[in-house]
Amino acid sequence: MYDLDIHNFKQINPPHRLLMGPGPINADPRVLRAMSTQLVGQYDPAMTHYMNEVMQLYRGLFQTENRWTMLVDGTSRAGIEAILVSSIQPGDRVLVPVFGRFGQLLCEIARRCRAEVHTIEVPWGQVFDPQHIEDAIVKVRPKLLLTVQGDTSTTMLQPLQELGEICRRHDVLLYTDATASFGGNELKVDEWKIDAVSAGLQKCLAGPSGSSPITLNDRFEEVIRRRKCVEEGIRTDAHVQGDDEFIYSNYFDLGMIMDYWGPERLNHHTEATTMLFGARECARIILQEGLTETIARHELHGNALLAGIQHMGLNTFGDLEHRMNNVLGVEIPENIHGEEVRQMLLNDFSIEIGTSFGPLQGKIWRIGTMGYNARKDCVLQTLTALEAVLNKLGFSTKQGEAMQAAWNVYASAMKGENS
Ligand SMILES: *Cc1c(COP(=O)(O)O)cnc(C)c1O
Repeated sequence: MYDLDIHNFKQINPPHRLLMGPGPINADPRVLRAMSTQLVGQYDPAMTHYMNEVMQLYRGLFQTENRWTMLVDGTSRAGIEAILVSSIQPGDRVLVPVFGRFGQLLCEIARRCRAEVHTIEVPWGQVFDPQHIEDAIVKVRPKLLLTVQGDTSTTMLQPLQELGEICRRHDVLLYTDATASFGGNELKVDEWKIDAVSAGLQKCLAGPSGSSPITLNDRFEEVIRRRKCVEEGIRTDAHVQGDDEFIYSNYFDLGMIMDYWGPERLNHHTEATTMLFGARECARIILQEGLTETIARHELHGNALLAGIQHMGLNTFGDLEHRMNNVLGVEIPENIHGEEVRQMLLNDFSIEIGTSFGPLQGKIWRIGTMGYNARKDCVLQTLTALEAVLNKLGFSTKQGEAMQAAWNVYASAMKGENS
């Protein structure tokens, strides 16, 4: 193994793809440029200035005044894990409304934190009525309600507007995983009274995976600060005795991460400089376009894709009233092999669309229109290619109708703008 021939290893030069799945998607070139800039030291005034700017920019995206709005280094699940590990003590009751795969992930992580996990469920393709959740809260009396805003596995968007009020009434902390929906769908952290939120860059934010923006309010900070910090635990050997107050992760100890991002700048990890540059650019681009405008753009291109798919004679998956703007579930027609279609799209058109997991495996494709790829040309190219492939494989469509339907959506949006 050690006498490998280095000449066999070419410079990295990945194929050019149009990524129209549920994420990751193509990064905005401006994000890639920000990420190719030179490094600075972690306490260089330029770096700490950028860290403070990142906090400000993400307050804008999360629509919050929360002081603790920062990045957790790692993919989106690093943000999820930091929030759960830092807030859940062994034996705490948590309630998880599960409507897809990412709700199951929250259960799994909460179990690792040795929480007493309670779930309620709806069939995949649906979301919860707030009353259903409140009834379960009354019954379970959890410390935390763990929710997913947009579950990419089912393409559904759980309405969160009323949950904050419900949680305050019952003295429950509300967390949501907004990775899939953030930047492409409305999320008003303060107005909706959500105590903690985590996200990622690789969906509507047009960046690569590897950084998780999070925000925590005072209520949530208090729960974390009440727990023992690692230093104390190590001094008292509390961790050896299995003290329940103790946060068992160093990397994900949000108390320490806050002290690193705060004015004390206590050394913890070395902030992932290049990811921070990327995350900063993702947020800057959206706020420059306007958050409202960015969400409207996701809605427009999601609607155009939907119209095209419906006029191709394909059925969509789930409750369309509650779908995310940025990803659509499409039923694979009878006698068509879903993977063969994906292969042809990739090999002949260099377009990637998504497959599915669990109960939906082999039943639906998931097509995303998000971030840098929430664009007219991406939608029209994907519809054209999909129609061509389906016809080649024996599913005949009235050719051209899908395109016309999508064009009509764009035309009426233009009219609306001009009136
Ligand atoms: C895509 C997605 C993630 C991704 O997590 P990673 O750790 O970045 O792979 C997490 N949560 C939800 C709801 C998602 O849709």
